[in-house]
Amino acid sequence: MHLTHLDCTACAKEHDATVPQNVCTACGKPLFAHYDLVAAAKTLTKESLRTREKSLWRYREVLPVKNAADVVTLGEGWTPLHPAPRLGAKHGLSRLFIKDEAQNPTASFKARGMTAAVSMAKQYGLKKLAAPSAGNAAGALAAYAARAGMEAHLFMPRDTPKANIIECEQMGAFVTLINGLITDCGAEVAKRKVAEGWFDVSTLKEPYRAEGKKTLGYELAEQLNWTLPDVILYPTGGGTGLVGMWKAFDEMERMGWIGSKRPRMFSVQAEGCQPIVRAFHAGEKFATEHLGAQTRASGLRVPKAIGDFIMLDALRKSGGGALAVSDDQMISGTKEVGSAEGIFVAPEGAGCYAALKMLLAANQVQPDDTIVLFNTSTGLKYLECYGG
Ligand SMILES: *Cc1c(COP(=O)(O)O)cnc(C)c1O
Ligand SMILES: [Zn+2]
Repeated sequence: MHLTHLDCTACAKEHDATVPQNVCTACGKPLFAHYDLVAAAKTLTKESLRTREKSLWRYREVLPVKNAADVVTLGEGWTPLHPAPRLGAKHGLSRLFIKDEAQNPTASFKARGMTAAVSMAKQYGLKKLAAPSAGNAAGALAAYAARAGMEAHLFMPRDTPKANIIECEQMGAFVTLINGLITDCGAEVAKRKVAEGWFDVSTLKEPYRAEGKKTLGYELAEQLNWTLPDVILYPTGGGTGLVGMWKAFDEMERMGWIGSKRPRMFSVQAEGCQPIVRAFHAGEKFATEHLGAQTRASGLRVPKAIGDFIMLDALRKSGGGALAVSDDQMISGTKEVGSAEGIFVAPEGAGCYAALKMLLAANQVQPDDTIVLFNTSTGLKYLECYGG
């Protein structure tokens, strides 16, 4: 509601937010939304939140849409932060939580980004949206575009989980399967978008998906009674949720809601696709593309991310890190989480649990740390991984 402008995350060039924008017109890096936080904090208060809708639009003052009439919603966000006492007790942890993002529309946290991006597309009067996707972003865009009466043109790798492909088709999207990875899908969108009149909503090449995803940070704080966890484990592809949460913490501090302490943020990637893990340990500012990327945790099959430097900076400033886990660890971890807590997590979510075990073995977490694992989708969308 109080969006003022967009700023480049690399060169700080200011961009007009009253017209559609993709990346920085000077340097090609992602743009971030800026708000009048003084105005926002007048009506967005801890008290006012008590009676608001149980969706991420409860934070409307710090979301970009100007008029409520343009909000395209299916009831996204405000997902449960489940205590995980049995899983925690197995490892001597007293405050382990699972943020269950499977409970979003289209059963993944991609709904958060797409509700914001499609609402802004509606505000701008756009009609045809296009995106490359590893699977769940496509499902979410298909749903929100249908809801808004827009066209969705989706490009996914041919071996994307069936659930994602079928979901998009049943929501009336135009689906193209590509022999390649999400990067090849992105190249196809870039090649065709001008001639086709598509607006590109690739993550972080469109400024508002990150705004939707940043609400993860607001929700964690609110659900933990305005404190932040000590440790966050986040399964990282494009990194939108990670950088979004980091941005949310900053906004909350500037509104006087929290102090300067931050959670230690850990990026979890797959052994077969770990560009951020490699760059983190090599001390690099940017990540080089992971060639021949391979993992069954399709949401993590992102060999190159445009927001790499923003992620790496946040991981380092937070005192966290980056870990790679194997597909076997993810798939076997699913049953451990499920049998202890009753949540059929996606492989990406199980990856966070596998990474937590690595942190425990390395003495990098303490028994009384408040730890949040992100389950970003549901195992039901990945039956192929579980013998289905
Ligand atoms: C997209 C996706 C991720 C990665 O999210 P980013 O915010 O792009 O890093 C993780 N898990 C699942 C299930 C996903 O669909
Ligand atoms: Zn720039």
